[in-house]
Amino acid sequence: MAELPTHARVVIIGGGAVGASSLYHLAKAGWTDSVLLEKNELTSGSTWHAAGNVPTFSMSWSLMNLQRYSVDLYQGLAEAVDYPMNYHVTGSLRLAHSKERMQEFERARGMGRYQGMDLEMCNVDDLKARYPFLETHDLSGGLYDPADGDIDPSQLTQALAKGARDMGAKIVRFCPVTSVDRENGEWILRTPKGEIRCEIVVNAAGYRAQELGRMFIPHGGRDVPMMTMSHQYLLTDEIPELQAWSKDEGQKLPLLRDVDSSYYLRQEKFGLNLGPYEANCRPHWQTKSDPMPEDFSFQLYPDDLERLEWHIEDAMARVPILGTAGINKVINGPIPYTPDGNPLIGPMPGVPNAFEACVFTFGIAQAGGAGKVLAEWVTEGQTEWDMWSVDPRRFTGFVDQDYANVKGREIYANEYAMHFPHHEWPEGRGKRLSPNHNKVIEIGGVMGAYAGWERANWFAKPEDDTSEESTLTWERAGPWHKRIAEECAAVQNGVGVLDLCGFSRFELSGIGAADWLLGQIAGALPKPGRMNLAYFADRRGRILTEMSVMRMGEDAFLLITAATAEWHDLELLKATLPAGLTLENTTEKSAALIVSGPDSRALFSGISDADLSLPWLSHQRATVAGKPALLARVSFAGELGWEVHALNEDMPSIYTAVLEAGAKPFGMYALDSLRLEKGYRTWKGDLSSDYTLNEAGLSRFIRLEKNHDFPGKAALAAETAVKTFATLVVEAGDADAPYMATLWSGNEVVGEVTSGGFGHRICKSIALCMLRADLAIAGTEIEVEIYGRRCKATVQPEGPLYDPKNERLRA
Ligand SMILES: Cc1cc2nc3c(=O)[nH]c(=O)nc-3n(C[C@H](O)[C@H](O)[C@H](O)COP(=O)(O)OP(=O)(O)OC[C@H]3O[C@@H](n4cnc5c(N)ncnc54)[C@H](O)[C@@H]3O)c2cc1C
Repeated sequence: MAELPTHARVVIIGGGAVGASSLYHLAKAGWTDSVLLEKNELTSGSTWHAAGNVPTFSMSWSLMNLQRYSVDLYQGLAEAVDYPMNYHVTGSLRLAHSKERMQEFERARGMGRYQGMDLEMCNVDDLKARYPFLETHDLSGGLYDPADGDIDPSQLTQALAKGARDMGAKIVRFCPVTSVDRENGEWILRTPKGEIRCEIVVNAAGYRAQELGRMFIPHGGRDVPMMTMSHQYLLTDEIPELQAWSKDEGQKLPLLRDVDSSYYLRQEKFGLNLGPYEANCRPHWQTKSDPMPEDFSFQLYPDDLERLEWHIEDAMARVPILGTAGINKVINGPIPYTPDGNPLIGPMPGVPNAFEACVFTFGIAQAGGAGKVLAEWVTEGQTEWDMWSVDPRRFTGFVDQDYANVKGREIYANEYAMHFPHHEWPEGRGKRLSPNHNKVIEIGGVMGAYAGWERANWFAKPEDDTSEESTLTWERAGPWHKRIAEECAAVQNGVGVLDLCGFSRFELSGIGAADWLLGQIAGALPKPGRMNLAYFADRRGRILTEMSVMRMGEDAFLLITAATAEWHDLELLKATLPAGLTLENTTEKSAALIVSGPDSRALFSGISDADLSLPWLSHQRATVAGKPALLARVSFAGELGWEVHALNEDMPSIYTAVLEAGAKPFGMYALDSLRLEKGYRTWKGDLSSDYTLNEAGLSRFIRLEKNHDFPGKAALAAETAVKTFATLVVEAGDADAPYMATLWSGNEVVGEVTSGGFGHRICKSIALCMLRADLAIAGTEIEVEIYGRRCKATVQPEGPLYDPKNERLRA
């Protein structure tokens, strides 16, 4: 057994599939001075008992990419590391019980095609041809994924471990980390075998990630947002009919996922493996009476088949040969969940030189991609693909254990559910409330959660249907549609108010603050009293974030960013902040209103002492309704308007006064419509680290001539963008273009949609997109694939569709 070295560059804690893949990828990147510490034996956590399904399917672009990478890796791994493995690429069928499910599959097929995969839509006859034992009378069709399959999770882990060891990395088993310390910029990890010092540490402790994570709290960490569910699958005896078919055909059945009934069914030798995600599910290790044992290595929970009765019966009706077999074995093991069901891969929030690759619900399918992404974070500080959907910093301070518990359970029970654009999941709500919350509800706000903040999506009249059922559609139409149109019209023709709680706010000051900031952003700084947009890029010139910069003095700034960006942006700023400067996160202290529309000046003249003649992109301190406020002359809605920022305690008086002065409340859906017409980008939709500032059409915000050598300067100066930002007007029919909808020119894929929606002022469906540069010429006709339909789209002239010269903003 390997001895514990005294030093290493990187130490990975946890030897499941994910830890082993992380070690393998670090070694492949040349970081062979890496050590993996495992509490027990490799695979002894969740990995040993996993069913080993390896799908590529995901409705998230980045997770699909991660899983596609895993499949590619696994196909060549046995040979690459000389470790034979059981890996069966059987293909899979997903069944659709509804038109909406078929639309979802069409969307996945489009994304898959763009990633080089061949997902196929199936009609009922195709399903029957691929799966002769299937009852199809009530199905709408399905989706075939030829790359899906199953792998032996233990062999996969051992293969990755062997590959890593062969390259020089080390693995020390039976070596639990019991405490961590930091000295002279080094980590000291203590174990019963002694201590090891390292530069960088990785938490890959699976369902024990929170327990391990607590050791990092004294070093700036937080409680890892997670909970653990019990998940079961059952294995049947051999089924003679299946054996005969398999032998005749010389193949296994494709893996079947009846997603609307929420289970998978897979051939295992000549029997079947049934794995449901049940609604009456069971969390574990949440209460004092059910503590997580000190050691649960290679252990299982007791069988609990009663919970699965409905699914067993449903699956027997779907595949009647299942009913002919007895149950041979049940596996009931721990499976960890974050509050959104995606794993944590990336920097450990608040802790220097520490990363996470943990809390995987589909850790076998994702281990390959996770190792790649983790290794990129560690060795380069940036990733090839934008990985915000798994970035640990997406869960900010509002996430407590109650939230993690209820969301994890909700996700497990809805593991295969469709995520419709107007649907809000009901659990974990009300975590962060605007000071105006009660008023917003009183006047009809239909709420949505944005990084925990409750904001109105739209405002309903008493007769409107606000039920959850009404939102289960991909279509634009719904009870909200008419109200959004009215809200947009009010902003266009009168004045509207949006209670926009949750902006992230950072106050930066100190001698040299301006000089330092100029070295961080690509562009210029505003003069005192003015504001502008600033972009932070990485070394490749790709977009890290966008901030509104208000200059309060020569060396004093208020930086405002998206609610979800709070921890991401704070860490970005802190990473290079010089000792003499002060940076304060004041997110929780203040709130904001967007007051916008041609009548907004008249409105404020009645309730504020502000100088309303100050120009666009100015700001000032004034009173509104007798309360101190900061008024910024900007509008994300694209009309004359002001943002009003005020302390929480003053906000209710201001909001009431604005409403009483005649502003009509509008919601986030209306704001999205209005901003699309202006071509304003949103963070992590249109503005992601998949694109450079030049590609995103933001070259006007770059100042290459300034003396400061900001990140990405050289790359941006040298770049010739092959794709570029464009605005499309789409003949979209009933549904607007979703994120990552494919763009076609003839039979060629030429780009992707970064956000889409309906512009109510121009009465057209709009898509913001990244398009091959030679096609980004006004008037060019292309097509956008929307849930499988190819819709005609026309490239628009550069600049906003609505009020292209910003005359209404400047009014
Ligand atoms: C019944 C069931 C079926 C499943 N089927 C599938 C499937 O078909 N496909 C799929 O993709 N996923 C499946 N999963 C999920 C999958 O098992 C997990 O996502 C995956 O195993 C997670 O791997 P990991 O490496 O992150 O964690 P783990 O395998 O749990 O590894 C973490 C390791 O960290 C070690 N550790 C913890 N604390 C310390 C410490 N202080 N010091 C040192 N070491 C420590 C543990 O001993 C453990 O070995 C299934 C899960 C269950 C329960």
